[in-house]
Amino acid sequence: MRGTVIKLDRGFPLVQLEDGSELRCEHATALVKGEKVRAVIGDVVDVSLPEEHDKGIIEAIEPRTTAFVRKDPAERTTAQVLAANFDSVIIAEPIVNLNIKRLERELVLAHETGARVAIVLTKADLASSPDEAEAVRKSAADLAGRDVPVVVMSVGDEESIACVRALVPKGEVAVLIGKSGVGKSSLVNLLAGADVQSIGDVRASDGKGRHTTVDRVMVEIPDAGRVVDMPGIRGLGLWDSDTGIDVAFTDVAELAEQCRFRDCKHTDEPGCAVLAAVESGELAQARLDSYRSLVAEVETTRKRRDEARHMRGEKASDRKRQKRKGR
Ligand code: GDP
Ligand code: ZN
Repeated sequence: MRGTVIKLDRGFPLVQLEDGSELRCEHATALVKGEKVRAVIGDVVDVSLPEEHDKGIIEAIEPRTTAFVRKDPAERTTAQVLAANFDSVIIAEPIVNLNIKRLERELVLAHETGARVAIVLTKADLASSPDEAEAVRKSAADLAGRDVPVVVMSVGDEESIACVRALVPKGEVAVLIGKSGVGKSSLVNLLAGADVQSIGDVRASDGKGRHTTVDRVMVEIPDAGRVVDMPGIRGLGLWDSDTGIDVAFTDVAELAEQCRFRDCKHTDEPGCAVLAAVESGELAQARLDSYRSLVAEVETTRKRRDEARHMRGEKASDRKRQKRKGR
């Protein structure tokens, strides 16, 4: 039997089979032995149902068409897949106190998946004026580039919710990311037309959301596609994100093509088109700084990972050598 993982919580993955029925499943031992392979939300899985067994068994995970990957926050040298097989990533950011640096990071991660990307600016009712909201929308749109639609919304504005719904056409799956408290659960509930996600209280003192759940669940939107809310994502460390950076920073990437040296680091090289653009005011220094620090982050992670692999390799050969000696 084939199915899709539609819910991940503290229990066993919930799989929706092709006939629409839902089944709690565990992983086949052969699948997870040795490796940390686990089905994530959106995964298409092959399931068997042994007789007199109350759970299905995930025998195989089909190759993922898209995957949302971040650096595992608990380990420095491994990646963590958060969702699979989606068509678009929707980034939620608040209209008040929009954090450009976080948005840049989210755009990199979203573009790295290869899926379409959109931005939703939440809590528009908290903007001091329509002009302010429009200014924030414009800065987000300028940052994100032409191919990324930006929707300004608030929970009280039905028309704005319809605009978000239009981002998720029938048959498609969208992944919703954004920091806790930005209004994702509220949005998902409105899209679903039911309370499917619990809405966290925001502590007035620090504005941080408190979440009762870390569930990942795929929710059907009536007359539209499906959306995956990913609450409780604390860290968004970059994994391999070279493509994501190039797409999220097309302005820098295009300039870099004009640099004299192909491997120009845009620090002090002669004939650097990127530095020239900063000099002339065409490119903001802050933008270049963001670009540099994200590139450096990817390089650091890659170096650590290579070192870790190297160490593991050495250890393996050490063991072999010791065995040989012992014989
Ligand atoms: P999540 O952590 O991203 O899922 O955010 P929640 O949906 O739990 O919302 C966090 C808080 O923001 C809750 O108190 C919501 O009632 C509030 N909130 C959500 N959307 C809006 C909005 O459009 N306008 C205003 N003023 N508050 C909102
Ligand atoms: Zn350069």
